[in-house]
Amino acid sequence: MSKKMIVDTHHHCGGAPDYIDRLAESYARVGIDKVCLISGRGVEGRGRVIEGMKKHPKLVVGIAGFDWENDKPDDIARFQGEGFSGVKFIRPPQTYHHKDFWPIYEKCRDTRLTGLFHLGIVSRGKGAGFLDNNFMRPIYLDCLARMFPEWNIHGAHLGNPWYEEATMSCRWNPNLYFDLSGSTLKKKKPEFLGELLWWNSTTRYRDPNGRDAWEKILFGSDVPHYEAHDVLHDYDNVIRALNLSDEIRWRILGGTAAEIYRIEEEGA
Ligand SMILES: [Zn+2]
Repeated sequence: MSKKMIVDTHHHCGGAPDYIDRLAESYARVGIDKVCLISGRGVEGRGRVIEGMKKHPKLVVGIAGFDWENDKPDDIARFQGEGFSGVKFIRPPQTYHHKDFWPIYEKCRDTRLTGLFHLGIVSRGKGAGFLDNNFMRPIYLDCLARMFPEWNIHGAHLGNPWYEEATMSCRWNPNLYFDLSGSTLKKKKPEFLGELLWWNSTTRYRDPNGRDAWEKILFGSDVPHYEAHDVLHDYDNVIRALNLSDEIRWRILGGTAAEIYRIEEEGA
């Protein structure tokens, strides 16, 4: 039975000093119970999220932003000790599945920190510098999911624009999950997503564990806290248009996330 909680699995910690307090107010209003809060890279960025976890322990699930230049595999255990539940990867210097990175992923698996990977074509950002979006294709997560079958992997943005690659990888890998944040829910119709995420427990071609495709899809906003209600609305539009069951709806909104980020159910 799915837990009836709403978990935003993709949220970047804003720069304002009181950002997390504002986020807590907004999410209480909207009815979002938990937020996977992605830190900036470096000690300072992580420190802010650590503070947020302490101040809002029922709300904040910490995700440590990984710095490819300065962070080492041994830092992963430290992130876990600091209370983080996942590690966010973006803008890798090589394809995500490059062998040089395997020691990092092994540590994530061993410490049970979920890997959250940006996928697809990323914004230009501030700096110019070398960036190859091809390094962030969903197919590399297919490889990692096979290499590290005990590791939960969360791919962002359904691989936008490489949706076919993402969803086919999703079907074959029980430990690979995706969110629909970014522009996808604005530009694509629900039917488009229904065609990509088509299998269920009764279809001839299906998930190895017999799950519905939508049980592998996570609610993620990837917008500032004051816009999250709009993304939640977009998710509900798709759920309604595709006639997904109430049970599947709760899996998407939080049930699956609670499992892969190991979020405890609230006590009394
Ligand atoms: Zn993001």
